[in-house]
Amino acid sequence: MPDVIQLLSDHIANQIAAGEVVQRPASAVKELMENSIDAGATEIQLIIKDAGKELIQVADNGKGMSPTDARMAFERHATSKIRTIDDLFRIRTMGFRGEALASVAAVAQVEMRTRQADTEMGTRIVIEGTEVKLQEPFAVNPGTNLMVKNLFFNVPARRHFLKSTTTEYRHILDEFTRIALAYPAIAFRLFNNGSEQFHLDAGNLKTRIVGLLGGTVEKNLVPVEQQTDLLTINGFVGKPETANRTRGNQFFFINGRFVRNAYMHHAVMSAYDSLVEKDTFPFYVLFLELDPAKVDVNVHPTKQEVKFDDDRLIYSHLQAAIRHALARYNIAPSLDFTLSTEITQLPAVSLPVSHTDISGAQTGYLQQVFKSGHQAHVIERRDSLKQWKELYEIAKNPATRDLEPDAILPQPRVQATLLTPGRPEESAQPASNKLLIHGTMLATTVKSGMMLIQVSRAYERIWFERLLAQFNNADGVSQQILFPPTYSFAPQDALLLREVLPDLRRVGFEIVSSGTDGFTVQGVPSGISSGEEKEIMEDVLEYLKHESTDAVGKRMEFVLARVAARLARSRPPITQPEAQQALIDELFGSTRPEYTPDGKKVFVIIKKEALEDMLGQ
Ligand code: ADP
Ligand code: MG
Repeated sequence: MPDVIQLLSDHIANQIAAGEVVQRPASAVKELMENSIDAGATEIQLIIKDAGKELIQVADNGKGMSPTDARMAFERHATSKIRTIDDLFRIRTMGFRGEALASVAAVAQVEMRTRQADTEMGTRIVIEGTEVKLQEPFAVNPGTNLMVKNLFFNVPARRHFLKSTTTEYRHILDEFTRIALAYPAIAFRLFNNGSEQFHLDAGNLKTRIVGLLGGTVEKNLVPVEQQTDLLTINGFVGKPETANRTRGNQFFFINGRFVRNAYMHHAVMSAYDSLVEKDTFPFYVLFLELDPAKVDVNVHPTKQEVKFDDDRLIYSHLQAAIRHALARYNIAPSLDFTLSTEITQLPAVSLPVSHTDISGAQTGYLQQVFKSGHQAHVIERRDSLKQWKELYEIAKNPATRDLEPDAILPQPRVQATLLTPGRPEESAQPASNKLLIHGTMLATTVKSGMMLIQVSRAYERIWFERLLAQFNNADGVSQQILFPPTYSFAPQDALLLREVLPDLRRVGFEIVSSGTDGFTVQGVPSGISSGEEKEIMEDVLEYLKHESTDAVGKRMEFVLARVAARLARSRPPITQPEAQQALIDELFGSTRPEYTPDGKKVFVIIKKEALEDMLGQ
C-alpha cells in the first residue's frame, strides 16, 4: 500500500483557518476594526457594500505599517502584539493571534494602503487568496486603509451559505455597535451602499449610547459605578420600565472586549428581579475591568466567551452594583442623570431627614453588613447615608427630634393607649405616632402623609437580608435542637436536598443526611420555632424541583427568600413602640425596603392630600 498522508499546502491550511476566524462579513469587519483600534486610531471609517459581500473597507488614522510589516501582516501567526508566552496573560489589545489578516486574505481579494506618519511614502499591497499580486510604494495619508472585496470568492460553498443581505448587514451593525460602544473616545463613521448610517463623534459613553441608539434613551439611563479590589464595574443600565421583549441591547465588555455570558446576564436580571416583567430584558452597557490574568477571553475562536477564575464573585459584585444603581435611581437623584418628575415627586425623594435617622442608619443593619471592607458594597456605605437623607422622614417622638415644623401631622393623643391597652405604665412614655392596624399593618406619619407598612412583608425583607448576610459571611447562628427530629423524603427529593445542605449550613441549618432518604435536623437559625424546619425544607425542595437550569446563581437567594417568608409568617404582632421603631429602622436599613424578596410591596405612602380628599376637605 502506498503512503497516503500529505502536508496541506499553505493555501489550503489558510483557507481552513480562515473558516474559524472569518465566518461571515461581520467577522471580517470585527477583525479589521479591532486592528485599527490596536493601531491607536482616533478615527475609523467602515464602508460596506452589499452587506460586505462586495466590499468591506476599514480606513483608520492609526500608526500604519512599514513596507515590510505590510507584507508580514498577512502571514499566519504574524503579530506585533506578543513576543513571549507571558505576554498572553497580560494582553490588553483586541487581537493577538496574528490570524485575522492571513485568514481574510485567504478568502478574499484584499488591497491595503498604509503609511506610518513619520515616513514620506506609504505602501500599497494587493493580495488574492494568499497570493501577493502586487506591492508598491504609494502616496497615501498616514494610517491604514484596508479593502476586502468579494469575500469567499474562492470558497463558493461559503459564499453560497451567506444569509440574506439584511441578515448579514444586521450582523455587521451588531459588530459596529459593540466596537463603537466600547470606544466612545474614538470617532466612527459607517457608510452602507454609499449612504452614511452613523457619524459618531468622539465623546463619552453616554453620548455614544445616544449616538447609536437615539436621543430617547438618554433619559432612561441609570449610571452604574462600582469599584472593588477585584474589579471595576461601570456603564449604564436602563430604567426598569423601558425593558422590552426583544433582546439585543444588552452589552457586556470585559477589559474593552465584548463578551456574551449567560451567567453575568443572569446576575443583571436578578438585580432587576421583580422590577421588570417576566420575559422582558432591560437595556445595559456594562464594562468590567479586571486583571487580565484572572480572565480567559480566548476560550472561543471568535473571543466572545469568557471564563473567570471566580464566577461567583463576579456574579455577586455585578448583582450588587446593579442593585445599588437601581436603588439610587429609585430614591435619590444622581449627579449624572436627570430624574423625571414622577421620581422627584416621590415622597422618598422629597422628604428631609433628621439626625436621628442618620445616626440610626450609622448603627443600622446596612452599616454592619457593609462594614466588612473591600466588598462590592462598601462603596455604597457613604452613599447610603445620603440616601437616607432623601429617603424618608419617619416622624418619631417629636420631643427627641429636630424636625421641620411641618414635618409631622398633629399627634393623635389616643395612640399610646391604643397600642398598649392593658398596660397603663406605658402611656407614661412619649406618645408614639405609630399605629398597629389589625395586628398586620403599621401606620406611621411621614412628611407627605401616611405610610402604611405590611408588617409580615417587612419582616420578610428583614429576615431575608439577615440570612443573606449570614450566608455571605458563612456565620449563621444555629440554635441546637434538644431532640433532633428526623424527616424522610422521596429518594429523588433527598438527592436534591442533599445538594443544598452545605449552603443551608451557612445560614444556620444543621441538617445531616442519615441513611438514604432521612434528614436529621440538629440545629436551626435562631428565631425558628420547632416544626417550622420541616416546612422550610419542603419549601426549599419545591423550589429546587422547579428551578430552571440557568437559575444557579439565584438558587440560594430563592431558598433564603422562602425561609424568610416562613419566618415572617410566624412573628407575633409587634405592639411595643420600640419594637415598631426597630422594625422600621431595620427595614429602611435594608437594600430594598420597598419590596419583599419576591417582589411584593412592603409599604405604601398615602399622600396627605389624598387623605384630605377622602374626607372631602
Ligand atoms: P493580530 O491583530 O492578532 O496581531 P492580525 O492578522 O489582525 O493579527 O494583524 C497582524 C499585524 O498587522 C498586527 O499585529 C499589526 O502589527 C498589523 N496591523 C494590522 N492591522 C493594522 C492597522 N490597521 N494598523 C496598523 N497595523 C496593523
Ligand atoms: Mg487583529
